[in-house]
Amino acid sequence: MTIHQTSTGFKSLSHERALLEQEIDAYQATEKLAEPITCPQCGVVFHKGRWQWGAAESDAHSTICPACHRINDNVPAGFVTLEGEFLKEHHEDIIHLIRNHEQHQRAEHPLKRIMDIERIDDKEDALLVTTTDVHLAKGIGEALRHAYQGELEIKYTAGEHFLRVHWRR
Ligand SMILES: [Zn+2]
Repeated sequence: MTIHQTSTGFKSLSHERALLEQEIDAYQATEKLAEPITCPQCGVVFHKGRWQWGAAESDAHSTICPACHRINDNVPAGFVTLEGEFLKEHHEDIIHLIRNHEQHQRAEHPLKRIMDIERIDDKEDALLVTTTDVHLAKGIGEALRHAYQGELEIKYTAGEHFLRVHWRR
């Protein structure tokens, strides 16, 4: 498992502000598109009003899906900050739980993806997990609390377009 490091773990704050100045629903405009669509980057298919995994029809249009769009632009919807001594001591288990949660969610909901897991300021006891979807961020926080207790704080910002989750133990 590669953990990317960043010297500015809270750079997401400036991302948030930057996005507010843009069209906020640039990542949610799918409904206006004609079906069927397939994403050339991840292969997900838009069919019957929702994104799903499966074989694309031969006449499908090619359009980048909202999740790949966010990944390409590096604009997360969810930010999960993890901190504390327990995190440091159970690092591997915690990463495994987060990845596992994502895999289960993504199988059913293709747009729910982890974008990155980064160490904050190169510290061993602080991680930032970014996601393409607010519900995935919330789910990760709840899965951590369910498995390990700890303190969980969940906060929507910008009219529920962003979610900040803070877990500490
Ligand atoms: Zn895609």
